[in-house]
Amino acid sequence: MLKPALFILVCLFCALIVHAQSEPQKSPPFGTASVAPGVHEPGKPPTEQAPPPPIPETSAQGTGETKPQIEKNPPAIDPKDMDTSVKPQDDFFMYADGGWIKRTEIPPEYSRWGSFNELIEKNNDALHEIAEKAAKSHADPKTAPETQKVGDYYGSGMDENTIEAMRTKPLDDELKRIDAMKDRNDVLKEIAHLHTLGVGAFFGFGSGQDDKNSTMVISNCVQGGLGMPDRDYYTKTDDASKKLRDQYVDHVAKMLTLLGEPANTASDHAKKILALETSLAQASRTRVELRDPQKNYNKMPQTDLQALTPDWNWADYFKEINLIEPGDINVHQPDFFKAANATFANTPIDDWKTYLRWHLINAAASELSKDFVNENFNFNDATLRGTKQIKPRWKRVVISTDEAIGEALGKLYVADHFPPEAKARALELINNLKEALSDRIKTLEWMDEPTKQEALKKLAAFGVKIGYPDKWRDYSLLKIDRGPFILNAMRAENFEVNRDLKKIGKPVDRTEWGMTPPTVNAYYNPTMNEIVFPAGILQPPFFNAKADDAVNYGGIGAVIGHEMTHGFDDQGRQYDGTGNLRDWWSPESAAKFKERSQAIATQYSEYEPLPGMHINGELTQGENIADIGGVKLAYAALQKALDKNPGAREKKIDGFTPEQRFFLSFATIWKSKQRDEDLKLRLNTDPHSPARYRVDGPLSNLFEFAKAFNIPDNSPMVRPADKRVNIW
Ligand SMILES: [Zn+2]
Repeated sequence: MLKPALFILVCLFCALIVHAQSEPQKSPPFGTASVAPGVHEPGKPPTEQAPPPPIPETSAQGTGETKPQIEKNPPAIDPKDMDTSVKPQDDFFMYADGGWIKRTEIPPEYSRWGSFNELIEKNNDALHEIAEKAAKSHADPKTAPETQKVGDYYGSGMDENTIEAMRTKPLDDELKRIDAMKDRNDVLKEIAHLHTLGVGAFFGFGSGQDDKNSTMVISNCVQGGLGMPDRDYYTKTDDASKKLRDQYVDHVAKMLTLLGEPANTASDHAKKILALETSLAQASRTRVELRDPQKNYNKMPQTDLQALTPDWNWADYFKEINLIEPGDINVHQPDFFKAANATFANTPIDDWKTYLRWHLINAAASELSKDFVNENFNFNDATLRGTKQIKPRWKRVVISTDEAIGEALGKLYVADHFPPEAKARALELINNLKEALSDRIKTLEWMDEPTKQEALKKLAAFGVKIGYPDKWRDYSLLKIDRGPFILNAMRAENFEVNRDLKKIGKPVDRTEWGMTPPTVNAYYNPTMNEIVFPAGILQPPFFNAKADDAVNYGGIGAVIGHEMTHGFDDQGRQYDGTGNLRDWWSPESAAKFKERSQAIATQYSEYEPLPGMHINGELTQGENIADIGGVKLAYAALQKALDKNPGAREKKIDGFTPEQRFFLSFATIWKSKQRDEDLKLRLNTDPHSPARYRVDGPLSNLFEFAKAFNIPDNSPMVRPADKRVNIW
């Protein structure tokens, strides 16, 4: 199922984001969607010398599983991953990772492949073992509740015979409800009902912290309702976009055919769906516009919301989702709702039936029979991302379990795979990074004293979460059994939606997590003013208890610095230490910040990962600021650690100084290859830059890097002094 939108603004360290077209970014595990970075030099042909080996034919339901090749226990910095024919001053990404890039093929089931994915594979194997074991303990009455849920969810997902035999039968009641709609009131009620199942039809609704009173949770309405990854896919007029829309219409038609519609009817319906979604896309804000938290804050009483949409009755909607006291509502994009009202009123009932059938089946596809699974893969993975082969069933079911009941699975995972020492060492690193940022703020040349005092207050108030939640989610009211897989998935969605809605009108629960423990990722949440590091990322190559400080500061240290910097990027800086959207900057300091962040946007906009396609410097601004700040702060923290450790500074390993190993470790976490289709999708939608630029972009601004490798000025990896930017 598609996850309901989370109404928190999280910033992800790694490049994973599948949040649809609505602005609140949900926090999907890196593994569910995809992937990473480009291996094309700006304006140059691909760096691979030889043509890639032939790839097996695209096969959705791949029979023989080929395990991605991952080296067991490689050295923390592996000299054979490097390409010493490239000089560090020309392209550090290729120097540090070129050996790996040359010898590595992207596994057919991935659209990109790199350090993140290798670790995700390792975690998937661990979760696989846990789920298999849990499934076998089915009959044991002493089984712990979370083990039962994990075992039965996984077991139902692995029961291919039943899934094939049932096809869409478990959805019969839902399809009948849609068919029975008679008027617009019914349409609204059905949209509301589908929302309670996590189906993102027409618009989004859910709970979220009040940006200007961050201790409280309120109602939120957001733009939504699309089937493609972004509004731009509907509005762009270039040939490639037109072709993609044709492919989308074909895909929707095929899915409707699988539901039993004759081909001609399905094709006609698919065109109507595209038209309806296009009207919503045209009324939607762009991703760059969605980066402005002030613009997305429009708290209003229910009567004002009702005035925006005179043609539907919100009281009916709230009744259907069982929300008794919606309270004041933050309508993130009022113009969207005005336009949606016209769409609502002008669309014939039969077209609504088609649209809602499509969104139901689109959300359910991956838990249904092979024909749906394959067609879903063909468009969303093969066409949009260039993936060659579907993941084996066990892996898809493990990922689905993590999405559905991630804290039950996560509880079992951390018991076996997260040593307490990892938490203590991570905390120590975080404290050292905090100290580095505090030192930096105190000595900033561009920020005035009163603003510095506020910034330091905010830093001191940072919350830190490491590994897993102190309080586990209580799933006791969620029924998971060995019945149809899709019904388990729908009940889990419904459980999450209800849990989300119940928070409205209440004080915020500060113990909640936005990611599951096995996730290879991290985030900063501005309304909580907290940084969060799941157990999944606290492993090599990010974090290695056996390695020297240089490796750990260049890896997890840079991740920690990145997340901390998000508290002070173009979005995060607009929130104060208590998580409120409040301007604490003097006008002079704010102007200087904007001048610097604009220079970063300009730098990244110059990069051209694919011919004719540049990085969107505005969209990626926050992540680029965090990348530059993160590595700079981690470097400063490493210097302190070296000072405390006599002899460490002089110690070379494989001929590299600690400083050099720090930058090599930083590049190691970004080693990756990516299919062109995936790169293109991400250049349109991902607020993170492709991997190559997450290495070369920040380092070309850092004199510390140039010094470590004795790089002369006027080298490609050294930006001219007047263009170099360091904010934090
Ligand atoms: Zn980030």
